[in-house]
Amino acid sequence: MKEMKLYNTLTRSLDEFTPMSPDRVTLYTCGPTVYDYLHVGNWATYVYWDTLVRVLKFNGYEVERVMNITDVGHLVSDADDGEDKLEKGARRDGKTAWEIAEHYTDAFVRGMHEFGLVAPEHMVRATDFIPQQLALVRTLKEKGYTYQTSDGIYFDTSKFPRYADFAQLDLAAQKAGARVEANSEKRQPWDFALWKFTEPGKRRDMEWETPEDLLDSHGRETPGAASGAAGVIMGFPGWHLECSTMAMELLGQTIDIHTGGIDHIPVHHTNEIAQSEAASGVQFARYWLHCNHLKIDGGKISKSLGNGYTMAHLKERGFTAMDLRMFILQSHYQSEGNFSFDILAAARNRLKNWRDVACLRHQIHDRLNDDTKRNDAPQYFSPQAAIGAMREALNNNLNTPEALSIIDESFSSISQRPLDAIYRTGLVELLQTIDDVLGLQLLDSTPDINDDAKQLLVERRRARDNKNWVRSDELRDQLKTLGIIMRDTAYDTIWTYA
Ligand code: AMP
Ligand code: ZN
Repeated sequence: MKEMKLYNTLTRSLDEFTPMSPDRVTLYTCGPTVYDYLHVGNWATYVYWDTLVRVLKFNGYEVERVMNITDVGHLVSDADDGEDKLEKGARRDGKTAWEIAEHYTDAFVRGMHEFGLVAPEHMVRATDFIPQQLALVRTLKEKGYTYQTSDGIYFDTSKFPRYADFAQLDLAAQKAGARVEANSEKRQPWDFALWKFTEPGKRRDMEWETPEDLLDSHGRETPGAASGAAGVIMGFPGWHLECSTMAMELLGQTIDIHTGGIDHIPVHHTNEIAQSEAASGVQFARYWLHCNHLKIDGGKISKSLGNGYTMAHLKERGFTAMDLRMFILQSHYQSEGNFSFDILAAARNRLKNWRDVACLRHQIHDRLNDDTKRNDAPQYFSPQAAIGAMREALNNNLNTPEALSIIDESFSSISQRPLDAIYRTGLVELLQTIDDVLGLQLLDSTPDINDDAKQLLVERRRARDNKNWVRSDELRDQLKTLGIIMRDTAYDTIWTYA
């Protein structure tokens, strides 16, 4: 039976998860802005939502997910002023915004493979959905939710009375504290741009014609906004618009789950809800999940502090994406994570210990028929209880730290047994389940050793039986050069990877 509980930002409570259709879940994940390499905090977000997808599948749901690639319109301030992050990145790298987008999208996709992230059914670029975004602006305009200023078309939040509800915003306080608006034409400081006009006299790498019917006073008369061919106003979508558009186009007007980082709650997701629900008249997303931010040594991750570590930085220090994945899963997605290289090294050790257990499956002999160890006979380790406990932990709001301790306990019980007392099929099933739900690739990273190495193992056993310790040590060294470490336990001699 499926019985997941998820913390829903919408209700501020741990809710029973029941999707609209019994076996299928629609899910939208706010994706990266592709103007730079992702840092460890960004990766944490995608690992958590990947784990959500895996746990949904573990519960038997079919998942249809959209993840967007923000390649236009995300301004430096997250609001409606400042430069577009892509255009800024383009100047920094001496390229066009299109080249920047392609370069960092490719890097993201490569990273997704390294982290073993399940590919979303739809990975879509904002720039591939311009007509659809304009259509959404049109619907909002027709329904009376928009107004035009000299620099764009805005959403009038006063027309959407529930605007403050999702993020529990105190708009009065926000108004009192508002700095003198850069954009004094806005009716409310928190109104947001649906479509921005290219600045007068400027050209952007990424800009599109604003359809005439979206403009109040047909192009020509709009003050100072003509930037393309005579009378044509060029423009680009506001950041929030893409997510509403792509979610509703690809998954329907109401989706089951929408995910993002906590930074998205007060602006980005608040605005997504306003524009989507104003346009469709129905609820946009039923469960909103937000992951907390990762800090570094207790402080914010920021380029200017020089701590925006990317995978390249981690690799320079000998860490892999799987080490970071283990590190990320050690914290609950709602708790504020803290990154340090020491904690990352500890996570790497934990992963190494788990891989050592995974190696045991190649070493359990068939002297005792594996079938006799089935059925939870107490003298043989059977994984069913561990799998059940893991499911319970993950179904309880994706409690990954708890799932990890359950695995630690089982693995420690497994490693303390003679090989003969391990039910091999069960061990493989446990490893497969861990890989399925946590994506740690324990099976793939621990293939069986080759025949040459196996021959050396046989020779070493023979040397030991003959008490030929010199030869046995020689063989141990030889195996070490092949990356294989021999270890004597209370019962057996086992091998692991170096
Ligand atoms: P961006 O590319 O800036 O749109 O951010 C991509 C994702 O990373 C968003 O979901 C953010 O919420 C998330 N994010 C940004 N900084 C952090 C952080 N320090 N820890 C965790 N997630 C973060
Ligand atoms: Zn979004």
